[in-house]
Amino acid sequence: MAKEHIRSWQVGEVKISRLVEIWDFQDDMHMTMPDATPEEVIALDWLHPHYATPDGRQRMNFQGFLLQTPTHTIVVDTCIGAGRQRDFDVFCNLPEGFLEDLGHLGVTREHVDVVFCTHLHFDHVGWNTYKCPETGEYKPTFPNARYLFGKTEYAAWQDTIRNDGVHSDTHMVESVDPIVALGLADFIDANHQVAPGVRAEPSHGHTPGHIHVVIDSQGQRAVLTGDLMHHPMQCAMPSRHATFDMDKPAGAATRQAFVDKYRDSGTMVIGMHFFEPTAGHFETADDGETWFHGLGL
Ligand SMILES: [Zn+2]
Repeated sequence: MAKEHIRSWQVGEVKISRLVEIWDFQDDMHMTMPDATPEEVIALDWLHPHYATPDGRQRMNFQGFLLQTPTHTIVVDTCIGAGRQRDFDVFCNLPEGFLEDLGHLGVTREHVDVVFCTHLHFDHVGWNTYKCPETGEYKPTFPNARYLFGKTEYAAWQDTIRNDGVHSDTHMVESVDPIVALGLADFIDANHQVAPGVRAEPSHGHTPGHIHVVIDSQGQRAVLTGDLMHHPMQCAMPSRHATFDMDKPAGAATRQAFVDKYRDSGTMVIGMHFFEPTAGHFETADDGETWFHGLGL
């Protein structure tokens, strides 16, 4: 991905940078909320022009994040991966932009200490591995890293999801199983301390063991949403069901609690799939509604 798409934010001693794999993907808002209409999207002024098109479609990214702390180099979520075959064309045969962004930030694959996956959907685990051109084997992209998978999340995929006849498990075979087989995976509790200043928090609903990331450093706080929300519009209506939440009522309750917790708190919210500006704050507007105030707007 082009260098100009990289953004970094400093939160105390932690530098957070965006690693973009797909930039400005546009689709119907149905993809995020099944009952959303273009008219509703058009009517929310603050979504325009950054988060929605004039005809009421959503704009979003597929991206991961690099966290550089005084002690650790951490990648949170590893997108789709290069050269993969997935259910939709937009995800197939992608180039290596994710790794190029890492290179632009001066970080090699060997530098990374920890890879942390908020959940095990295909667009959050891809670059855990790369396809070896000589052998076709899937090998760890980050050979010196411990890979952290939620204990509950991994168990749910092993026990049922990957065999439920609904979900493809190709991404598990390519991007999770090889890591586990090599002994590089740690299965973590939902409130795991990843490194000083970086911890997980549970956010069940999108998937059975979904977790998001909280960064606390020198009195400043940021949160990375994972997929507990996909689009800024959801902060205005968090209790509405989300299309890809596996447990829709639980996902809605988690999202509502998350928005209530961070509204007007000064906490930087970084949306895993949010288009530019990807970071901002949940704020109460003059009319009492919640909106996402993207940084720089
Ligand atoms: Zn996702």
